[in-house]
Amino acid sequence: MIVYKFGGASVKDANGIKILREIVSNVKENLVVVVSAFGKTTNALEMVLKTWMAGDENYKDLLDDICSYHLSVAGDLFPSGNSVRSKIDVSFSKLEEYLKATKRRDYDYEYDQIVSYGEIWSTIIVAAFLQDTGLKAEWADIRGNLITDDRFRDADILWNESTARIKRVFDFKTTDIYVTQGFIGSSIAGQTTTLGREGSDYTAALLANILEAERVVVWKDVPGLLNADPRWLSDASRLEEVSYREAVEMTFSGAKVIHPKTIKPLQNKSIPLYVKSFLAPDEAGTVIKSETALKHGLPVFVKKENQIMISIVPKDFSFAMGENLSRIFYLVIHHGIKVNLVEASAINIDVCIDDDRARVESFIDDLSAEFSAAYNDNVEMLSIRHYTPEAIERITTGREILLEQRTRSSVRFVVRKA
Ligand code: ADP
Ligand code: ASP
Ligand code: MG
Repeated sequence: MIVYKFGGASVKDANGIKILREIVSNVKENLVVVVSAFGKTTNALEMVLKTWMAGDENYKDLLDDICSYHLSVAGDLFPSGNSVRSKIDVSFSKLEEYLKATKRRDYDYEYDQIVSYGEIWSTIIVAAFLQDTGLKAEWADIRGNLITDDRFRDADILWNESTARIKRVFDFKTTDIYVTQGFIGSSIAGQTTTLGREGSDYTAALLANILEAERVVVWKDVPGLLNADPRWLSDASRLEEVSYREAVEMTFSGAKVIHPKTIKPLQNKSIPLYVKSFLAPDEAGTVIKSETALKHGLPVFVKKENQIMISIVPKDFSFAMGENLSRIFYLVIHHGIKVNLVEASAINIDVCIDDDRARVESFIDDLSAEFSAAYNDNVEMLSIRHYTPEAIERITTGREILLEQRTRSSVRFVVRKA
């Protein structure tokens, strides 16, 4: 069997869903289709959540807009009177009821209960369209099957609890194609969870690992994995083959095209990952697989935006390494902070982390008893793998460099936002 994943950049209107159908209809093997929320629906639902959490009734208008968007996509795909519209209506009403009735719990919990609806709506529409156009497809609810811990907004799979359930649900006894949700899961207690922004790629990899897929294809709005984000460096070129190792380094440094957690479950079972163009499905794209000789010889540029660099110094002037380091990292993990770079000297530790302000502030609060901490916000991390002097010059000219870190294969700069 194989796993295909379609993200919001591809599936955002009726035309996108027709292309998805075309791509899926060419598959001869059993297929699991993982779908994210349409277009920018996740961002829009985050706005609904924030407005609702603030007690502002305007959340209703925001939700109405999202509902109209989905009904209009459905309107373009199905004849009037089709049951999909009522399914969508029922699902929106369920969310409306939830928003009317509940007392607000903490942000991360409510995030998962509310924002997860995007993937429910998209998969209802996609599954129905495949069925209505003659394909043998079933909608599968991933909740209750992909079981996670209860770290809401950043949940991770519980393998033992998920494996048997996933194998039972996706057994291909009654269908050739399953359409299911990326990004979401549920805790043992049955509460909906999410795997972190952009997490649908990760879902595809988890299902592929459990179901022993032959390959995974993520369909994107780019021709494959490129040596830079084309929105940043417009002359970026496609990499034909990339090793798991290279891919994990690239995505961890910030190449947003694939979620960084996607690689491990695939590497562990030697399942190749193809990154292919949604708009040119016959073209080769990129394959990510076990160690391949580095063929391209190109520098690979990666930019990670919205970073904060914190400089931490023990108040008692003790060495940074050793116990202080372990204390700091205990707090990092406790606050659910993602560290992207660490640099230490005798009594100073610099860490570059994602700018998740609420988490950063409570982290710094907790540090303050033992450490003094100063931070620079509005910084970016620029990385180059297989760097050359020209490559470095290209991206650092005119930038204020706050920190530089170099190994034989890569160089990273923390710079102030341009
Ligand atoms: P989806 O959510 O639809 O799966 P994304 O928008 O998350 O897709 O990923 C595709 C985007 O990733 C591209 O539009 C491109 O701007 C960006 N991107 C960042 N780095 C790279 C890279 N190295 N190669 C290709 N695309 C990249
Ligand atoms: N819909 C989610 C997001 O926008 C998950 C994903 O697209 O992978 O983050
Ligand atoms: Mg994405």
